[in-house]
Amino acid sequence: NSSLHELDPDVAAAVDAELHRQQSTLEMIASENFAPVAVMEAQGSVLTNKYAEGYPGRRYYGGCEHVDVVEQIAIDRIKALFGAEAANVQPHSGAQANAAAMFALLNPGDTILGLNLAHGGHLTHGMKINFSGKLYNVVAYHVDEQSNLVDMEEVERLAKEHRPKLIVAGWSAYPRQLDFAAFRRIADEVGAYLMVDMAHFAGLVAAGLHPNPVPHADVVTTTTHKTLGGPRGGVILSTQALAKKINSAVFPGQQGGPLEHVIAAKAVSFKVAASEEFKERQQRTLEGAKILAERLVQSDVTEHGVSVLSGGTDVHLVLVDLRDSELDGQQAEDRLHEVGITVNRNAVPNDPRPPMVTSGLRIGTPALATRGFTAEDFREVADVIAEALKPSYDTEALRGRVSALAAKYPLYPSL
Ligand code: PLP
Repeated sequence: NSSLHELDPDVAAAVDAELHRQQSTLEMIASENFAPVAVMEAQGSVLTNKYAEGYPGRRYYGGCEHVDVVEQIAIDRIKALFGAEAANVQPHSGAQANAAAMFALLNPGDTILGLNLAHGGHLTHGMKINFSGKLYNVVAYHVDEQSNLVDMEEVERLAKEHRPKLIVAGWSAYPRQLDFAAFRRIADEVGAYLMVDMAHFAGLVAAGLHPNPVPHADVVTTTTHKTLGGPRGGVILSTQALAKKINSAVFPGQQGGPLEHVIAAKAVSFKVAASEEFKERQQRTLEGAKILAERLVQSDVTEHGVSVLSGGTDVHLVLVDLRDSELDGQQAEDRLHEVGITVNRNAVPNDPRPPMVTSGLRIGTPALATRGFTAEDFREVADVIAEALKPSYDTEALRGRVSALAAKYPLYPSL
């Protein structure tokens, strides 16, 4: 019954150092967030000990009466949150949710139509060496070269030409909203299923600040740890008609025992996501991203070839375009790291630089909004970022401004 510090000081020291890193820097990776202490408490609970293959009321193991309660609460809450007919809360991650959804709807060799990775899609939407690219015949759609918006004419043309069995709408790096009704119309025209992967924007949907894909799609997948702010994990929402297929694709199709401790943490996060406080936080998330885009566009950093893809944002992230800048994505990521801001470099459409370098940065506001940042704070963050991307800047001064912001909003003070 030793504590982590007593039993394993090496791992404990790394965990402590990570806590300190999160507390003392500004987290702006668009896919990250800070889970509430209650979510981590559920995730660190004795539920980690329990095998529960099957579903609530239909398990292959004894002693499941309490995890049944937890899993049913998670299912009921997320159905209510998004207005879905059915939910599977067992996928271990977003990638596994997508794998299971495709396993339910497709046979190997079937055609899928998804957004190209370099244009903002996810690995699981058909990247060559991902399971999706290996198992299925992938046709990719793109963003328009001028507007940088998803080219719906191309989606329609490719759908008619290739007759996919599944159309995937959703993204990992895209600063605008998708037209789910248009995707539905195209899917219906060619007899395809429509799957929306809302991993990135699920929190905005839950708060009513982004269109809800659920009424339009056959299947909606999500992660629970991005804007939604819960534990790392995945969920599949579907119509009642597809529920059985989805459930058997997750278990026994793709997974064995569900992670009931994570499912408990998901349930807690869904309760939080239905609150007014959560909605207010998502409003600040959106406001922060808009401020960031506007300030960068108005800053004299634009004189050095730095711009914002599509000119702004409607979601929780901004894509900085460095194609005309001497600074590449790797250098820009390193510079921000140096002043205490964590982001990731990201390929932009038609990127002239290689994938390990890139010509873009993806900068998100969910974690800082969770921390409490207001519009005024986001203006300061935006100005620090703009300064850091100029050819010359004062590292120490910028680091000081970052530290002041971090100190203003203590993170996890009870840990
Ligand atoms: N789907 C989208 C759109 C994503 O952006 C991601 C993660 O970045 C995933 C799925 C995969 O989620 P996970 O990393 O939990 O497997």
